[in-house]
Amino acid sequence: MFADTDRLHIAIQKNGRLADYSRDLLRDAGMRVVKGVNDLAARVENFPLDLLFVRDDDIPTFVADGVCDFGIVGGNVLEEFALGTPDAKFEIVSRLGFGRCTLKIAGKDGVEYASPASLSGKRIATSYPLIVNRFLADAGVESSIVTMNGAVELAPRLGIADFICDIVSTGATLDANGLVAFDTVYESEAVLVRAQRPVDAAKAAAAEQMLGRLEGVLATKE
Ligand code: ATP
Ligand code: ZN
Repeated sequence: MFADTDRLHIAIQKNGRLADYSRDLLRDAGMRVVKGVNDLAARVENFPLDLLFVRDDDIPTFVADGVCDFGIVGGNVLEEFALGTPDAKFEIVSRLGFGRCTLKIAGKDGVEYASPASLSGKRIATSYPLIVNRFLADAGVESSIVTMNGAVELAPRLGIADFICDIVSTGATLDANGLVAFDTVYESEAVLVRAQRPVDAAKAAAAEQMLGRLEGVLATKE
């Protein structure tokens, strides 16, 4: 896909909650992004870096497969991918301080929840089955997980599940669906992830320079 293998590639979310923050971070690091030949990719004119605009769910794969050297993705999405792909070769370079949200166990207002043991034998709807599975295993609880790709908050009302585990930031969505948060499963923020594979010296030097600049920007925001 990329003719120019001398350049670094970073995958960022095309549209959505992380898209603007990701572009802003690169811009603040001095990367002047010029319009790409199509809406999938763009080039940085003053640094050997190309941007790839994708669905957030695809970012871990792009990085782990080495299609991209770097990616900016929600820790929740990366963690779910990592649990399902234990051999994946990547590392988290930095936590980025945006895209903060929490995966929470929630249920209908009035449902009994004292501890994870309250989930025993119950059905839990989620888009993060592997993270939930680990949470249950850590607590020594057996439940059945119902994987849904969206509209998880409707599951209790539809009778699909007793509880949900979903992303919460303000709690407005839970409220609107008559749900209450009971427990925290995973605290997330956007992360910079890096592929772990050998690159040539020039590319490695460019990567270090980019990381230095990003660290500089992040330091001003702490
Ligand atoms: P895409 O079209 O790229 O698949 P999406 O709809 O899956 O996008 P977004 O809703 O844009 O994803 O969320 C991207 C990430 O933003 C989430 O994975 C999560 O890390 C973070 N995030 C922060 N706050 C929230 C929130 N309130 N709801 C959902 N995600 C949030
Ligand atoms: Zn997505």
